[in-house]
Amino acid sequence: MKLCRYDHDRIGVVRDGRIFDASAALDELPPLHWPVPYGDQLIANLDDLRPNIEAAADKSTPRALADVTLKSPVANPSKIIAAPVNYRKHLDEAKADAEIHHGTKIKTIDDAGLFLKSTSSLVGAGEGIAMRFPERRNDHEVELAVVIGKQGDRIPRARALDYIAGYAIGLDITVRGPEERSLRKSVDSYSVLGPWMVTADEIASPGNLDFRITVNGEVRQQSNTSYLIFDIPKLIEYASSFYTLNPGDIIMTGTPEGVGPIAAGDEVVAWIDGIGDMTVAVRNA
Ligand code: MN
Repeated sequence: MKLCRYDHDRIGVVRDGRIFDASAALDELPPLHWPVPYGDQLIANLDDLRPNIEAAADKSTPRALADVTLKSPVANPSKIIAAPVNYRKHLDEAKADAEIHHGTKIKTIDDAGLFLKSTSSLVGAGEGIAMRFPERRNDHEVELAVVIGKQGDRIPRARALDYIAGYAIGLDITVRGPEERSLRKSVDSYSVLGPWMVTADEIASPGNLDFRITVNGEVRQQSNTSYLIFDIPKLIEYASSFYTLNPGDIIMTGTPEGVGPIAAGDEVVAWIDGIGDMTVAVRNA
């Protein structure tokens, strides 16, 4: 199932490039009381709600994707976890380009571990990227994003895939400069997730997916998730060895070589095999 969120907090199922409204199924979510648990309530209840979502979609009149504003398919992640330098060739380019490394020693993921992006930086494809520092270099990074489906702590590699609700395209937009990664990558709208979440049952081999990103039609990055240094089970095992993963937590798995600048007026199109195309407009904030 391709599950999307759009317009004013509606959810829909995407079938053959059209959206079927399934918002009626949200009425089945259990009520929340303060303090609400960490994580995304819809993702946490997705297995139970899925028949209701499909049934609601069956009854609705489809709309064209172009007629709606796509939001992040995850509304309330407790964490956006991201992997630095998790493709060998990106490591090489980061070491070679002073505009990327800014004099800091580039470590491998084995040494650097993971970092967090602010949840307030998260937007969907239809909301676009709003540049805050147009005088500085701002780069695109396209990544396979993993959405965690249930709470887990110290998850062993062998069970890691059981914790995945689905997959989406992630854009980890980055201001280059000397500051900490978590600051430079947490600007409002600098984490794009979408265009929808494809449930895990529809992605048989997440470790072997072609993907690419174009800017104004020019291919900038093109790779396959088989080149990940820390693969998806290892990322989940490693992340959960430090912190509890909650339903709706997002793991941006890292970007391959070819990162490059974007600016207001650009049109970014990212694609991942089995997920689809995501078009994102860039503007000044
Ligand atoms: Mn990244």
